[in-house]
Amino acid sequence: MPMSLEETTLSHINVYLVQGDKGYLLVDSGWNTDASFTTLHNYLIKNGVSFGDISQILVTHIHPDHYGMAGRIQKLSGATIAMHHLEKGFIEPRYISMEELLHQTDRLLITNGVPRDFADGLRDATVGLEQYIVPTLPDITLHDGETITTGRFTFRVLWTPGHSSGHICLYEPEQKILLSGDHILPKITPNISVHPQSIENPLGRYIKSLQEIRQLDVKLTLPGHDKPFTRLVPRIDEIIRHHGHRNMEILEAIGVRTKTAYQIAQQITWGDHNGWRDLPPFHQRMAIFETLAHLEMMAADNRIDKLPRNGIIYYGQK
Ligand SMILES: [Zn+2]
Ligand SMILES: [Zn+2]
Repeated sequence: MPMSLEETTLSHINVYLVQGDKGYLLVDSGWNTDASFTTLHNYLIKNGVSFGDISQILVTHIHPDHYGMAGRIQKLSGATIAMHHLEKGFIEPRYISMEELLHQTDRLLITNGVPRDFADGLRDATVGLEQYIVPTLPDITLHDGETITTGRFTFRVLWTPGHSSGHICLYEPEQKILLSGDHILPKITPNISVHPQSIENPLGRYIKSLQEIRQLDVKLTLPGHDKPFTRLVPRIDEIIRHHGHRNMEILEAIGVRTKTAYQIAQQITWGDHNGWRDLPPFHQRMAIFETLAHLEMMAADNRIDKLPRNGIIYYGQK
């Protein structure tokens, strides 16, 4: 069920309804706007399903577009909400009492070279997003390898950290179906960033989880955005290649001097934009934190040096 994400660059989020024998399983929820709610309601009516028929809501990760409306649907359906145990811990600091997270974000920006007068705008770039979320804790926390059976489907929970620390995919080995959330998208590369709620070396972990998924026998991938697709392995290889190219670009940007993630991010090409200066603050912050994910991975792989100096972190060629 593609649901519109007005005012964002992503256009749609796909919500999946899986028929079971004791009610339906809903995978992801859309964000909490009245337009999204009406769209979902209309899809359900068209399929002869009422909110009361939904017995489980599975959240691939707690980003607003995937998780925002889960609490509202739960109130109407009585369904249980399930997510990876790591995601559960992020709900409160991210969407309820945000002071500490803003403080941590600020420190991360400053230690990575962002000037003080510029950091405030970047730190606050996502304040307000919480209006799209009904913060609700899960009834069930999931672990890697667990199974969820509903009707003729038995899904295996695959922990795929990177885009979010507790991101999960669902794999149905009999039908060879993969619900990939934001881990693997057919057209865009998901944002992989270092941020206060990220796992250590998120890009390294992300690529490792891509390589694990690559071993699975998958006929159809159902992603969180864009259309379902069949060519999973070539798409994974494309994403891995993209990150390899980006590493090279970053190494070139470092050059012979030592630089901060903030300095390096300004030298990188970002999507269709003409350059760094044209990016809105939220995307500038993502660009810095994505650059940082590459730097952290290359430092972990011993390809570059990480050099703290007077409370600021610099990176340099070996
Ligand atoms: Zn996401
Ligand atoms: Zn998403």
